[in-house]
Amino acid sequence: MKKVHIFNAGPCILPEPALESAIEALKDFKGTGMSVIEISHRTKEWESVMEECRSLWKELLDIPDTHEVLFLPGGASLGFLFVAYNLLEKKAGYLETGVWAKKALKEAKGLGSTFGAQAYAVASSAETTFNYIPEGYEIPSDLDYFHITTNNTIYGTELHGDIDCPVPLVADMSSDIMSRTLDVSKYAVIYGGAQKNVGPAGVAFAIVRKDVLGKVSHYIPTMLDYRTHIDGGSMFNTPPVFAIFVMNETLKWIKANGGVKAMQERNREKAELLYAEIDRNSLFRGTAAVKDRSVMNVCFVMAEGKEALQDEFLAFAKSRNMVGLKGHRSVGGFRASIYNACPLESVKALVAAMQEFEDLKK
Ligand SMILES: *Cc1c(COP(=O)(O)O)cnc(C)c1O
Repeated sequence: MKKVHIFNAGPCILPEPALESAIEALKDFKGTGMSVIEISHRTKEWESVMEECRSLWKELLDIPDTHEVLFLPGGASLGFLFVAYNLLEKKAGYLETGVWAKKALKEAKGLGSTFGAQAYAVASSAETTFNYIPEGYEIPSDLDYFHITTNNTIYGTELHGDIDCPVPLVADMSSDIMSRTLDVSKYAVIYGGAQKNVGPAGVAFAIVRKDVLGKVSHYIPTMLDYRTHIDGGSMFNTPPVFAIFVMNETLKWIKANGGVKAMQERNREKAELLYAEIDRNSLFRGTAAVKDRSVMNVCFVMAEGKEALQDEFLAFAKSRNMVGLKGHRSVGGFRASIYNACPLESVKALVAAMQEFEDLKK
């Protein structure tokens, strides 16, 4: 059992069995007498991990054969550039719902400016510090692609379903991948860093519909071309073996615990419990529009007039072995990240701490 309640936004809590297997594999990988970080990646022992990991992705998310699963370098941040390099020809639209979305847009704008293409925000919630997800905007049908960030890790807002889109739809799902079921066929590209919900830092994932590739006229650097990694089975160069190993173990844990649908139900239960307490407790208030509240990152602040208690509550939570509750440095307040591996007990402990704190201040 973990000794602390981990609410870190990323890297985040991982399932205990995945960590146990990782420790074993560091000592002796599959009886080879070598560590998983010593063995050559061109061996059948390693290739079987790659194969298992790919097929678990396909099984857990019901990924159709039209799409390829890739394990890539550079995190989600390099993913911003992967998207632009592979798909941007003339014009791309972005839904600007937070800092990550802005960073994704910046890369497309910058790259596009080198060959006369444009990227712009189709809609934005910047004017209210990204506390909601815009609705009612129209997606132009002449875009090369439309980019969304399905969960806004910093602001605690989330798109709760798969949107209809007249052009290829691209989604940064760094912080909600595998937290809910989704219809992969609606997306041209889904990508993200592993370290929020599916593994440790060091590997990124991309689910790419093959028929959207090969349509741009500019040069794509070899390492930034999805086709390189499709052809190379995500082993064009040496893959981050340890990160992929732990990701595979994390996916095995998801499967053993009922798959993505079961994760979704548990996640909903955890989020409902916590939001109910935020709404009930006179000392706290939520910051995101209620309809767009994230199931993964629960953002809240002290209620009006109670702001001075913020540091005291953080210290109180810390004394109850809770870590990672401080909000992102750009927004302040609190953020409880309650990803798949965060147990219901940790959420219950946080709710109890909030109640006790309220009693103390009466
Ligand atoms: C954390 C995060 C990123 C950045 O991920 P890196 O792997 O650190 O580059 C991008 N988008 C979202 C939505 C995130 O939560």
